[in-house]
Amino acid sequence: MSQDQDSPQFCCSADIHVAPGTALPDLCAIQYAILENAGYAIIATDISGTILYFNRAAQQMLGYAWHEVVGRATPELFHSPEEVAARSRQLQAAGACPCDAGFAALIARVDAEGRDDGEWVFVRKDGSRLHVQLTITALRDAAGDLIGYLGIAADIGERLRMEQELRVAAIAFESQAAIMVTDGAQRILRVNQAFSKLTGYSAEEAVGQLPSMLKSGRQDRAFYQQMWRELQETGHWQGEIWNRRKGGEVYPEWLTISAVYDADGQLSNYVSTFSDISNLKVAESEIHHLAFYDPLTALPNRRLLLNRLDKACQAGRRSAQYGALLFIDLDHFKTLNDTLGHDAGDRLLVEVANRLKACIRVGDTAARQGGDEFAVMLDELGVEPGAAAVHAETVAEKIRGELLRPYRLDDGADHFGSASIGISLFHGQEKSVEALVKQADIALYRAKDAGRNAIRFFDNAMQTALDERAALEYGLRSALVRCQFVLFVQPQVDTAGRLIGAECLIRWQPPGRPQVQPGDFIPLAEESGLIVPIGLWVLDEACSRLRQWAEAEVTRDLYLSVNVSACQFRQADFVDQVTTALQRHGANPARLKIELTESLLLDNVDQVVAKMQALQALGVCFSLDDFGTGYASLAYLKRFPFEQLKVDRSFIRDIATDPDDAAIVSAIVAMGNTLRLSVVAEGVETEEQHAFLLEHGCRCFQGYLFGKPMAFADFERHVRALPR
Ligand code: C2E
Ligand code: MG
Ligand code: MG
Repeated sequence: MSQDQDSPQFCCSADIHVAPGTALPDLCAIQYAILENAGYAIIATDISGTILYFNRAAQQMLGYAWHEVVGRATPELFHSPEEVAARSRQLQAAGACPCDAGFAALIARVDAEGRDDGEWVFVRKDGSRLHVQLTITALRDAAGDLIGYLGIAADIGERLRMEQELRVAAIAFESQAAIMVTDGAQRILRVNQAFSKLTGYSAEEAVGQLPSMLKSGRQDRAFYQQMWRELQETGHWQGEIWNRRKGGEVYPEWLTISAVYDADGQLSNYVSTFSDISNLKVAESEIHHLAFYDPLTALPNRRLLLNRLDKACQAGRRSAQYGALLFIDLDHFKTLNDTLGHDAGDRLLVEVANRLKACIRVGDTAARQGGDEFAVMLDELGVEPGAAAVHAETVAEKIRGELLRPYRLDDGADHFGSASIGISLFHGQEKSVEALVKQADIALYRAKDAGRNAIRFFDNAMQTALDERAALEYGLRSALVRCQFVLFVQPQVDTAGRLIGAECLIRWQPPGRPQVQPGDFIPLAEESGLIVPIGLWVLDEACSRLRQWAEAEVTRDLYLSVNVSACQFRQADFVDQVTTALQRHGANPARLKIELTESLLLDNVDQVVAKMQALQALGVCFSLDDFGTGYASLAYLKRFPFEQLKVDRSFIRDIATDPDDAAIVSAIVAMGNTLRLSVVAEGVETEEQHAFLLEHGCRCFQGYLFGKPMAFADFERHVRALPR
């Protein structure tokens, strides 16, 4: 027998180690070896609980070396005080009276029954706790007298943990999610209550069956093959699947399947967990609807349209078929909205959506892009571009006709509308979705330019125009930096031919190239926002001229009119811009006239009026330019503080030959006079026109007959040459 450091150095009795002075029975060497090598902790005490023997396993389990414990009392060493106290209380309750709550409490049952077997919590040397199954037996000598006690303790921590895990697993198994356990051959072994609740099958009905009892038939064979392949390869599968309840109802579920392998790595079970995701699906479809559909008309929105367009282009790449994108803009919708109110506008939009849907085939898309802009995507128009164009035009024509039909809104009256339609053909190979959208947009602009209620195709000539526009915009930006703009003036005269004022008209003079007229660059400047800095320059230049005019007697009393674009007027600081320009040059505000166009009047009326009044308070006055070309009625005009009205040149041109124009102009002049607005006739070129206007009460004139737009220097010379 080895006598190593860890072995107890007992006294030798018949070659067996026992603690000195103990009354332990003699042990043979074999018995001693068994004790020392047992897998249990073995502790022997005398009748008072003093430790006599403490085997190797006990040392490992409790962390004490034998010499640290031999001779000491067990309760104070390994038994937690709470446990000893608890035992003691039990005994007292049972009527026994172990005044000494320590060892007596521990061995009370042994004394009574010869042995005690139970679970205890030991305290290790390091203070940690250890759950043990402890059997205490009374030791008696040959005469039957009690000589001590023998405790055999097994560590049951692992067993308790496993029991706990099983309890957790049992609770987890009865969780909210449905669980199904099958064997390796997929026979159902166990299901939980949630399974029965979800599928309608009780555990008795399900056990022994195959999971295919739940199949809805919505997934094809390929789906299941792929699922099993993945399960075999990775031991795991999860995804969405449609199953059928016992009652026949088909529902979507989120399913997770895990393969379970035994200790040898052999597949033993499958555990499937699943939950009903019907509610999730409903929410998902609502979100999808919100994200991809227009709430008012329920048509696909722009995002979905672009999505489908992208797919159609990709499909076109494979099939070589043409498709068409139609952009549809309702003409003058804003006017209807402003006059009848937004509810009526909404009803009209819904009606337009219905009519559009009725014009297209099942695979085509009608979408609302926003506001009064709609779009239609036509698919699979064949491989021949000519035929595709004809087809697209036929549909566009049908749409145009449908949208012309009267709309019966709630007010009981019929409302009429029309639409402008731009078409761009696409053929997967050539165009990106962005390019396609841009081209349909350009075609739409052309349709509007053509007087609205029209259909136009995008073609290459348009692309050239597009490129030219880009070059023009670039040119305009540099013109601003390089001071290439000049201001011309055109005289305005009264009935006696006396000069009363002049209108500033901008020109662009690129070096070494012909002068560019405003008609060729102002619209682009407006679209690109460049009109704001350009307009500021005009204002500044005009105020500087006004200041110079104030110096000379011949020009001192003249008005100077400045054209202001709607988008410049809309600038939040427009009033400041004018005030600053006037102050910088010390110009007289009362000589400055601002010409606005009707389009501005459809904006927020109160804001427009407030700005006009603020400037009016300084002395600045306002003229309504190009009157007759927009939608403003004379009555509507009364809401704005205009002082002057300029009849558009297009009415004056044919005044002598076209009775309609003649009637319009005379009516405008008459009503203008009634409203105490000074009426200016623009574009007067002939004596005949002049005579007609004079005869019908017009008192101010502007046109080539009295002078073309000219440089300021020429104008001033011209003024000086006039008879006084
Ligand atoms: P508008 O303000 O209506 O100016 C009158 C236009 O009619 C000017 O064209 C003028 O040259 C032209 N005109 C005047 N009398 C006659 C005539 O007897 N016969 C013919 N055929 N034309 C006549 P212009 O200078 O080409 O300007 C065109 C438009 O460009 C202006 O129309 C105005 O809307 C805009 N514009 C000009 N200068 C400015 C500016 O500084 N700022 C802004 N925002 N717009 C401007
Ligand atoms: Mg003008
Ligand atoms: Mg005009």
